[in-house]
Amino acid sequence: MDDEVPGATSRYREAMTFEDWLAYLAGAPEADFDLLDNMQLQNWLQTVYRENGAATLEWVHKLMFEQRKRLAEDLVRELKPHAESDVGPLEDLSVLVPELPGTDFPSGIVTVGDVAIRGLDPAEAGLEVADGVQTFIADTRYAVWPLCPVHRLGLHPHMRDSRPSWVCSQKSHVVSTIYG
Ligand SMILES: [Zn+2]
Repeated sequence: MDDEVPGATSRYREAMTFEDWLAYLAGAPEADFDLLDNMQLQNWLQTVYRENGAATLEWVHKLMFEQRKRLAEDLVRELKPHAESDVGPLEDLSVLVPELPGTDFPSGIVTVGDVAIRGLDPAEAGLEVADGVQTFIADTRYAVWPLCPVHRLGLHPHMRDSRPSWVCSQKSHVVSTIYG
């Protein structure tokens, strides 16, 4: 995937500090993200900078796409067996890429069910993937999944203690974490 291609050096800008690079990204009019108050994005960019240096905006968009796709695939792989043990085979459930990174969608589009995955870390993407899997089951199997074992009501994905969790609509009690 990282094969050297002509023009590959254009992935990188000249040496600049992390702060200068963030300022460059924040000021880029064609950026497909908003850095302001987005700690998740800033944390991810720190990793990108550590591993890639001051990448061009175009390259950041591509890495962003790859990160979302990889996270979505890992999380679907983890969640799917749990869902299948309750609702039966979900062979048609997979991560879709309606748009590769390009002019119209700089960082592409990655979806699970009809939910776009925008998160860049396992927690944020995990909420979206759970939402996507739940929606997919509702739309294609006409089933509510998962159910609260106590109240027999549908659970919803929410962040609790920084972890994606299944929360019952009755009294908002946490039934379990969604992953691991
Ligand atoms: Zn409940």
